Amino acid sequence: MKKYEWMKNDTAAIMFSAIEGSKKSRLFRLSAVFKNEEIDPERLKKAVENIIPRYPLLMYRDVKGYYWAYLEKCDVLPAVLPEENRPAELRRLGRDGAPEIVFLYYKRRLSIEANHIYGDGTGFVEILKSVVAEYMVLGGADKADFEGVRFGDEKGSEEELENAFRRYATKEKLPKVKREESYVLPKDYVKDYQNYICGILPFSELKPLCKERDLTVTEFIASVMILAIIRTAREPINKTIIIDIPVNLRQFFPSESIRNFTSPMPIHFNPHGRTDVTHEEIIEAIRGQLKKYNTKENQQAFINHSFAMTQSLAAQLILSIFKQWGMNAIQKKTHNNEMTVVFTNMGNIKMPQVMSDAIERFELVGGDARVYDMSVFTSAISVNGYMHIGFNYSTKDVSFCREFFRILASYDISVRVESSDENGIEAATAAEPKMCSECGVRIGEEYSKCPLCGSVPVKAETADTYFKTALYPQPYKPYKHVPRKKKNNIYDIDRFHAWFNMDPS
Ligand SMILES: [Zn+2]
Repeated sequence: MKKYEWMKNDTAAIMFSAIEGSKKSRLFRLSAVFKNEEIDPERLKKAVENIIPRYPLLMYRDVKGYYWAYLEKCDVLPAVLPEENRPAELRRLGRDGAPEIVFLYYKRRLSIEANHIYGDGTGFVEILKSVVAEYMVLGGADKADFEGVRFGDEKGSEEELENAFRRYATKEKLPKVKREESYVLPKDYVKDYQNYICGILPFSELKPLCKERDLTVTEFIASVMILAIIRTAREPINKTIIIDIPVNLRQFFPSESIRNFTSPMPIHFNPHGRTDVTHEEIIEAIRGQLKKYNTKENQQAFINHSFAMTQSLAAQLILSIFKQWGMNAIQKKTHNNEMTVVFTNMGNIKMPQVMSDAIERFELVGGDARVYDMSVFTSAISVNGYMHIGFNYSTKDVSFCREFFRILASYDISVRVESSDENGIEAATAAEPKMCSECGVRIGEEYSKCPLCGSVPVKAETADTYFKTALYPQPYKPYKHVPRKKKNNIYDIDRFHAWFNMDPS
């Protein structure tokens, strides 16, 4: 086998790969919604072709070997498809020799759906910016205006493809951050159902609330989540509520890697059966928790432990003997016992002015939480002064999310709520500004009922001039795997190989 024909999975990807079944990958979606422009599929195809040589990783797919999963180079480019399914719908990417990523278009939204085995959000934000920039340049924008964005004709660094866990792991045995057994949200899964609820709020209104309470934005959001969970629990909670925050390891361990390099950190609170806990109590209890745990020593312990585990003979035996079943059980057990909710906050994404002017928002969908036997994934990403908080539900009970946004609204934050659920869309032409008087939130103009509580909306006094509802295809097509015809690379294969001459081991 030639070099560059295959690559090892990174340390985190080994776990993601292990939970994959024949019908599910650990997927997520990252989208850019343009302000005015509908996506031109042909131009998008060209943009994807152009950026792929800059990101050779996106030409690989996960292959299960007898003992070990690895990445194998594909012969076809990632597909560019119309968005027809639910956001990051549970399915297996990388079939038929195709890469583990697809590019989707629907009205003003351009999306990437990818397997987490490639990398974490840090890398994918850059990839999304690259494809948006390339798309805009193909539409006539001046390339010189996109400073800091990576284009397809640039050469990347080999460090971008490194497994940073391998680089920084030491033999030192360090104690891991201990976690208490966590409270678990109800899991009333509905077959083939998933609903992405997105709340959009201005940073200018959120920031002062955090500052007054001496909290980071992530801590404040986590405190509201904890309060919402306590208020909406079906029975008093006696276990620890754990908001799991994936933290970027690059802050302590510098790496240009676009592959996985994050560690989970807990923000936790145990209400001990009380239902009358106040927000202030939670705030006092959680303030500084993240700072306390997120130390270089704890992160070194995480790196060492993760690397050792995936390298050990025992882990290889589990994989080879129990295969899917064994790793599935381990993943489900850790996720069920150690976290109530996963909250991925990508923070504020900077982009060139020309892109800010064209883009209304970025969206991040955490995939179907069923892969971890959880009911919801939450995520946030901020651009242009607005934070987008997404709740990706695999169940119909959205009471936690509803209470979360109601609490934010009670602080006089103007929240705009939208949903990918097919129920409630009136007509794509409706334009009257609407709000829900029960929840106190603005809602998409086209909605005939509130996505949080189902109430009939009332007319809002002022129009939302900045945002237009980001619509979803209705109804969704049930996902069907369409086999792809293999064909030779249609881009410059020599350029690809010349760049990618690193030792893949
Ligand atoms: Zn409502």
